[in-house]
Amino acid sequence: MRELVILGTSSQAPTRTRNHNGYFLQWEQEGILFDPGEGTQRQLIHANLSAGKIHRICITHVHGDHCFGLPGVLSRMVLDGVEHPVHVHYPASGEDVVRALVFLATPGLDLHLHPHGAAGPIAPGVEVEELHHRVEAFGYRVTEPDGRTFLPDRLAAAGITGPDVGRLQREGSLGSVRLDDVSVHRPGRRFAFVMDTGLCDGAAALADGADLLVTESTFSDGDAALAARYRHLTAGQAGSLAGHGGAATLVLTHFSSRYDDVGLLAAQARATAGTATVIAASDLDRIPFPAHR
Ligand SMILES: [Zn+2]
Repeated sequence: MRELVILGTSSQAPTRTRNHNGYFLQWEQEGILFDPGEGTQRQLIHANLSAGKIHRICITHVHGDHCFGLPGVLSRMVLDGVEHPVHVHYPASGEDVVRALVFLATPGLDLHLHPHGAAGPIAPGVEVEELHHRVEAFGYRVTEPDGRTFLPDRLAAAGITGPDVGRLQREGSLGSVRLDDVSVHRPGRRFAFVMDTGLCDGAAALADGADLLVTESTFSDGDAALAARYRHLTAGQAGSLAGHGGAATLVLTHFSSRYDDVGLLAAQARATAGTATVIAASDLDRIPFPAHR
């Protein structure tokens, strides 16, 4: 199963209805927690998610709204008796902050720290791209392995059914029938996560071809000067990332607490998002991963 659970959607200061950041991606067997802000442990409970489902924690940068929830989540995992390895990824320049947060957590986890300082792969199926914020920041891309889509009419014509389909997939051919004769290449789907940044090449690269793109949308287009000063995206810029990159679904989040209603931001993003479906996230939303295109 692949699904995104929104744990928090507020930037900088939480509000009565929006917790600090937090996003849980169920990616088949692996659970990836992105940017756990304050209160993430409790948001997991509201979302009916056990902390034991987390295998990997990916932090874009070490501003508090993206990482101050780390000790609470790690301590909860110890309390719950989690025994599997837990990997934490973060920008190398945030080492002191991450180590301080980990130091605060209850010891006992099989915890592995993985700082990164440049764009590229950081784990199987996970890559980072550099963002442009006031401190070093990286966005993440998670890619499903490529696969094959079988063509039912071709399979039927070749007389291949049942367990023989799996055998053909594993072995590449069955008698005179080759895998290519009855199936087509299916590129793996992509999840992309773009947090605090101005428009930059890294954000564009992450948006490119994303099936599900989560971006910050801190400010409305009317507050573009603030967005530029603090190196954040406006809603229109977030939409343009999805539009130019051909993303299928855009999830807006990380809203400034100055907006009671983010409907205007969603409309601004839709105006620039091309064919992308635009969702303004609310806390505890569950967003199923889009089907193959
Ligand atoms: Zn932030």
